[in-house]
Amino acid sequence: MPPIYQTSTYAQESPGKHLGYAYSRSHNPTRTRLEENLAALENAKYALISASGISMNTMLMHMFPKDSKILCSSDVYGGTYRLFTTVFNNYHQFEFIDTTDYKLLEKKLKANDYDVLWLETPTNPTLKITDIKKTTKLAKKFQVKTIVDNTFMSPYFQKPLELGADIVVHSLTKYINGHSDVIGGAMMTNEQNVYDALWKIQNSTGPTSSPFDAWLVLRGIKTLAIRMERHEQNAIKLAKFLEKHPKVEKVIYPGLKSHPQYKIAKAQMSGFGGMITFYLKGGLKESKRFLEKVKIFALAESLGGVESLIEHPAIMTHASMPKKVRESIGLTDNLVRVSVGIEAVEDLIADLNQAL
Ligand SMILES: *Cc1c(COP(=O)(O)O)cnc(C)c1O
Repeated sequence: MPPIYQTSTYAQESPGKHLGYAYSRSHNPTRTRLEENLAALENAKYALISASGISMNTMLMHMFPKDSKILCSSDVYGGTYRLFTTVFNNYHQFEFIDTTDYKLLEKKLKANDYDVLWLETPTNPTLKITDIKKTTKLAKKFQVKTIVDNTFMSPYFQKPLELGADIVVHSLTKYINGHSDVIGGAMMTNEQNVYDALWKIQNSTGPTSSPFDAWLVLRGIKTLAIRMERHEQNAIKLAKFLEKHPKVEKVIYPGLKSHPQYKIAKAQMSGFGGMITFYLKGGLKESKRFLEKVKIFALAESLGGVESLIEHPAIMTHASMPKKVRESIGLTDNLVRVSVGIEAVEDLIADLNQAL
């Protein structure tokens, strides 16, 4: 097993003569091991890890020259939305659209000279699926760089670089680590200039991750494949149960035939993942009561751990999004998001059933 190089500095043989490691903000052997592992998972030449998913997004925003034009999927992770609209809106121009609407996307790309297309697929929390191959092909035609947030699928179920994306980002905090005990981020790419630019930004601004966290993520990755299989098996059963329940208005899960982009999901992903979003019959009062009554599901933000989590996006993960924007993407007060864990599925079904 790789050791945890819990060191800030490295003894040098002669001034400037060392094994490539001089100071741990710049490089650390445990982090290098994880980066090599992550590059392999996405079939990429380069990977870089950072202190959190959001710090990687921050570094990427620093990489583009001031006043870059960024076109973004409309229901991205709440923290990404907050970063773009309250911090980097002072440096770049952002526009948010439904990236599953190709006619609109093509029209926008034709009419504007965007620098970046930021995709999240499936989106969070409404699980809309953008066709990565079709979209990246279109973006390339207009010389727009495509970045895909692949956190929800993990490299086990989806490989955006193979579908034409230029850069992939992950919150390692979620499925890749999988045990709800680390905050971390990563990006993978085949372009050396992207890796070099991001490494320089990281070394200059400082959001590196601890060697212990890198070691924990490496340990988590050993079971990524079997965890993802089980997340999916449980999610399919749970989604089917919810779809039939009289107190549930609608269920969104990419693996249900009722999902509007079921065909695209099936074509570009090798599995449907462990995230389910559903609308309860009722409003805020009913949703709160339901969420207070669950016993096995922990009422908590985040996702992708072995334990099942449940949350209310409007109050919790997406609170930074203005109500009007939330409602325009279908993020209403009766919407509940579930991260299905790897527990016995009968217990999970029984828990939601008693709470409903
Ligand atoms: C959690 C998450 C992030 C942010 O990652 P952190 O590790 O929490 O900083 C970005 N994108 C998606 C889709 C996420 O779920």
